[in-house]
Amino acid sequence: MSYQADRIRSLGTSIFAEMTHLANQHQAINLGQGFPDFATPDFLKAAAINAIQQDINQYAPSNGRPRLRQAVAAKMAHHYGVQADPDREILITHGATEAIFATILGLVNPGDEVIIGEPFYDSYLPAVQMAGGIPRFYQLHSPDWQIDFDHLSRLFNTNTKLILINTPHNPTGKLFTLEELSQIAALCVRHNVLALVDEVYEHIIFDGHAHIPLSQLPEMRPRTIHISSLGKTFSATGWKVGWVVAPPEVIQAAFRTHQFMTFCGAAPLQEAAAIALETADGYYQELGQMYQRKRELLMDGLTAAGLRPLRPQGSYFIMVDISDLGFTDDVAFCRYLTSEIGVAAIPPSAFYHNPQDGAGLARFAFCKRDEVLVAAAERLVQLKKGIVQTISII
Ligand code: PMP
Ligand code: GLN
Repeated sequence: MSYQADRIRSLGTSIFAEMTHLANQHQAINLGQGFPDFATPDFLKAAAINAIQQDINQYAPSNGRPRLRQAVAAKMAHHYGVQADPDREILITHGATEAIFATILGLVNPGDEVIIGEPFYDSYLPAVQMAGGIPRFYQLHSPDWQIDFDHLSRLFNTNTKLILINTPHNPTGKLFTLEELSQIAALCVRHNVLALVDEVYEHIIFDGHAHIPLSQLPEMRPRTIHISSLGKTFSATGWKVGWVVAPPEVIQAAFRTHQFMTFCGAAPLQEAAAIALETADGYYQELGQMYQRKRELLMDGLTAAGLRPLRPQGSYFIMVDISDLGFTDDVAFCRYLTSEIGVAAIPPSAFYHNPQDGAGLARFAFCKRDEVLVAAAERLVQLKKGIVQTISII
């Protein structure tokens, strides 16, 4: 007999934890789990230390410190022209992960359908399943991650509650275009469906492109849930400060879940997050430039190793087409790469409901110091030799 509840029994260990463990075991360079290996900006660290010293150390209000809710509102207005009431339309959470989970649990009834794009960020499916929702999948098709809108439109029906969108997208690096978002918006309006947009990479965008706020499209403000967090933008993934910006009814639903899951996030980090958002204006552009340079560094390294990287428009990930390398699947490739070549990557089959759909891909993170990316590229060159040897042994 198992003591475990049915709702979690099919959930394995997260692929990020698994690959980081394997990377540590083999002393591999970890281009798997997406976390920066360089320092969090000094102004942010100073703000957190200061907040602790000022004794902002007790519970924050459950919906978040007012200063942070105001800072999020100001940022949404300044960057995207989205006006949000800090008291009724913003909720501060323990990272975007909790924001996604609390929102889905607060909105989805058993039997409600939720449309999810594949590949998907790994927490979406468990959240929908634990709410008793029924996932319906549409695919972003490689190499340029196009959407088949005929297929997507057939997924919408009277049971559809929510569509999940992630732009810039993890793991593909796709940036949804205005045309694509307009088509999705039209479907949401026609079927009266809510759209949850996970935009945690909103400031990591390349080649002069811009992030388009879905709520600014016609009739979408009452239907859009913006979710983001501090972690990627401020190279502080361990802080777990996130937020939801949405109409009052949605915020109330997410809040009711949130208050009994965590009650509130870390108060001093919320204070520091507010200061970061208030003072960060020039910072965002520098961040984008830094990551564009790192993207090129890893693109060059992957190409020199004989791999076929698919150039991302945003996020800090590169997908690589490994379908012609002779491996049975992406898991075999990533395990080989970690243990034999000394570079860890993520097998994207974990981001598909049918793992076979990700079997010809591997995801590499470039949120690492330049010298680490260069060292990884040097190791990856061994891949050419290694693959020939492996295939000849088989
Ligand atoms: N969504 C996506 C697409 C992500 O890549 C991440 C980062 N792991 C998250 C959500 C979670 O963000 P946080 O660390 O703020 O919980
Ligand atoms: N978002 C990070 C990634 O995609 C990892 C998040 C996590 O470890 N849960 O790599």
